[in-house]
Amino acid sequence: MNKTILVTGGLGYIGSHTCVELLNNNYNVIVIDNLSNSKESVKDNIEAITGKKIIFYNVSVCDMEKIRDIFRKSKIDAVIHFAGYKAVGESVMKPLLYYQNNIDSTLVLCQVMNEFNCKKLIFSSSATVYGNNTNVPFREDYKVGGTTNPYGTSKLFIEHILNDLYISDNEWGITILRYFNPIGAHKSGLIGENPNGIPNNLMPYISKVAVGELKELSIFGNDYDTVDGTGVRDYIHVVDLANGHVKALSKLLDNKGVSIYNLGTGKGYSVLEIVNAFIKENKINIPYKIVSRRSGDVAVSYADSTKAKKELGWMPIYGIEDMVRDSYNFYRNNKND
Ligand code: NAD
Ligand code: UDP
Repeated sequence: MNKTILVTGGLGYIGSHTCVELLNNNYNVIVIDNLSNSKESVKDNIEAITGKKIIFYNVSVCDMEKIRDIFRKSKIDAVIHFAGYKAVGESVMKPLLYYQNNIDSTLVLCQVMNEFNCKKLIFSSSATVYGNNTNVPFREDYKVGGTTNPYGTSKLFIEHILNDLYISDNEWGITILRYFNPIGAHKSGLIGENPNGIPNNLMPYISKVAVGELKELSIFGNDYDTVDGTGVRDYIHVVDLANGHVKALSKLLDNKGVSIYNLGTGKGYSVLEIVNAFIKENKINIPYKIVSRRSGDVAVSYADSTKAKKELGWMPIYGIEDMVRDSYNFYRNNKND
């Protein structure tokens, strides 16, 4: 019998791509999303891409009674928990909102999972938990902490909570995935990242400049100790990231304990390298100016992804050209959406 996976935040950027890969791998998918940063039409697009149906609940994961109802209705084998707020700058302005939504949702979810004896969980963490460590590439056994904003700290706290949960009950199987910088989109152009308002992240910003919605990109600093002075990150195609979840899930279904994996390519690109790759691949100019550093930014962040490759058999297959092409393709298809 096919396993049933509950995906919280499943209509968001990474969640929607993961739903596609889960359906392609013959899992049944139930999505909970309160549409705080997504649209219900994403459900139709997931179904159009895969030719398969998902069950969708427009519910907050913080609503314990409603989450119980969902567990009562279906036998759920495992949960992938993407739901949460993710805007770093906003988290500095609204720390209580971020701690409340990100932590409460996880507590409610784990409590209900416990009640229904569903003890397999994959959690979306972030490279941000490595804080201002400068010892790249980051390995999973490095000390975490020194986070520079409430968003990052909420991820750090949740990692601690999940570790404590396992210590209290060794029946749990918990996989913590630390994502580096997901970009790109499904090649259909039907799903992708479409933040409301002015984007904070590099790729949505470049893409909006490319389609003429924004005038020029501001590059935050060119005086870092990097190849060309601009910040270096480990960009990973969102479809590769989604496949990392499928690999992690397949291992988790047969295992207990807490496992942590970096999901990055292991290679860093500077901001200027990304801009130039975008220009070259998409044959479109991206006007930019250099401005001062953005506070809280680290110079360099990239993953040591050996552990995921070795233990999960996961290997990213998309290169930077695919990432910038698929990002642009999505934005062209969804201009002013
Ligand atoms: P996203 O905002 O596109 O998706 C999150 C989804 O969760 C949205 O659809 C939103 O409507 C939903 N949601 C938020 N709070 C909810 C709640 N209480 N109940 C139900 N639904 C709720 O974000 P994403 O980029 O897909 O990120 C997914 C997860 O991965 C997040 O936890 C994020 O912090 C983490 N992450 C993202 C990145 C990144 O660069 N995108 C990097 C590291 C970690
Ligand atoms: N960046 C930039 N201009 C922007 C947005 C981002 O120069 O408008 C830089 C940023 O300083 C960092 C890199 O691009 O070096 C990636 O930033 P992003 O916000 O996408 O990811 P994160 O900071 O979470 O790694």
